[in-house]
Order: sequence, then C-alpha cells, then structure tokens
Amino acid sequence: MQWVRFEHSGVIRWGVLREDGVMATLLTWTDVLAGQPPAPGPVFDLAAVRLLAPVERPGKIVSIGQNYWDHVREQGKPPPERPIIFAKYPTSIIGPGDTIAWSPALTQKVDFEAELAVVIGKTARRVSEADALDYVFGYTAANDVTARDLQYGDGQWVRGKSLDTFCPLGPALVTADAIPDPQQLAIRCTVNGVTLQDSSTAEMIFNVAHLISYASQAFTLEPGDLILTGTPNGVGHFRTPPVYLQPGDRVVVEVERIGRLENVCAEG
Ligand code: MG
Repeated sequence: MQWVRFEHSGVIRWGVLREDGVMATLLTWTDVLAGQPPAPGPVFDLAAVRLLAPVERPGKIVSIGQNYWDHVREQGKPPPERPIIFAKYPTSIIGPGDTIAWSPALTQKVDFEAELAVVIGKTARRVSEADALDYVFGYTAANDVTARDLQYGDGQWVRGKSLDTFCPLGPALVTADAIPDPQQLAIRCTVNGVTLQDSSTAEMIFNVAHLISYASQAFTLEPGDLILTGTPNGVGHFRTPPVYLQPGDRVVVEVERIGRLENVCAEG
C-alpha cells in the first residue's frame, strides 16, 4: 500500500494512493503506523490535492553517513568499520513540491543526497539483525540536503544537516510488504534534468536490517522514527569541479517503487 498525507480544501488527511487518485481516510498517523486498514472514503484527483511529507513529526531522524561503496570510493576513503550515525533535526522536514530554502549569509555550499528512508513501525530495542525488518513500517524517498561548509567547518555535522527545509520526504510512504527486499532498489538524483546520482541500494555497506539492529543496541527506535540510510556516489561536493545547489534549481530524488520527490531551491 502507498500512504500519502495530503491537504485538500484546508484539511490535512492520510490517504491511499491509487491509480484513480488519492482515497481519503479518517485514520490518524498512530492508526496508520498500527496497521489499521483504511475504510473506503472519497477519492480525489491527484492534481486536486497538495501532497505533504508522508510522516508526521518523528521523535528522531537517525541518519547514516558513508554507507555506499560507490560513495566511499569517490572520496578515496576506506569503508567505515561500523555505521556512522548522525542526527538531523525533525524541524528540517518538508514535503514534495515544497521549497528548499537557505540564506546565502549562512551557507554557500548546499548539496543534495538521494536516500532511501526507513519509517519504523514498532518499538525496537536491542533487536537482532534477523528480526530487524519486522520493525519497518515502510519506506519513502529522502533528500538529505547538506550545507557542506557548515558540515565540515563545524567539526560535526548536525547544524549543516538540519537547516529548515533540508529534509524533503515523499512522495509516498510505501508499506514494507510492497518492498520485501530494500537492497534492490534503483536510486537517482537529477538537478535541472541532469542525472548526478544513479545507483542502487545494493551498494549499501551496512544494509537496512543491520542499521536497525545496530542503532537499536544503543537507543530505542520508536514508531514513526526515521532512518536515512546514506547516499550513493555523485553528490555535488565530490565532483570535479564541485556542484552546489543554486536558487531556482529543481532537484528530483527517485527511488524505485517509491516514486519521484521533486523540490525547487530558493534563497530564504
Ligand atoms: Mg546523507
């Protein structure tokens, strides 16, 4: 099933994406995460609704750095010995079609990172890798937008990763049953129609099950928490010459079976 959160006539609801449009439901985010089936409701044309980020405010966004073989190769770095976890604040979340905005006084090196995002469905504490995927509610696409000058200038990453609008998510939240193997998904990023990242989640160094198990040894993952699983090669900062996002740029992250997450950049 493909869940979407949408606004229509000023009302925000959870709905199910279907071929004929979006079927509205009366379910809350808690209901959705608990696996409650939607009762039939009115169907809206997709063009008549505004899609929002397909999650409500998570307790945390657990983010993983240096987690694709092709991404560590492009930096000439050895692979990490264990997952590199950093935080991205939930206030950075925006939806499909929303604007990625930053002040040039704060950063001039804004980069894109196409990522598979995992949404946790059940409380996970010290779970085994073998059981870990049972704790996944579903998957969506993310853009782990990053201010490289702040990320590297600060000595740690949280500020450069957490600017307002720096976590676009969507368009849909696809339930785990529809993606039995999260390690076989094509993942891409285009900027103004030019493909800059083109890889597969098969390139992950630590797979989704390992990341959930590893994180849950240290802290409890709660329903609705997000894990951003890292980005493949082709990010702007490591290109020659480097490419940074500019106002007016149109960034599209695409993850197979999930869809197309499009955002435009602006000063703000
Ligand atoms: Mg990232």
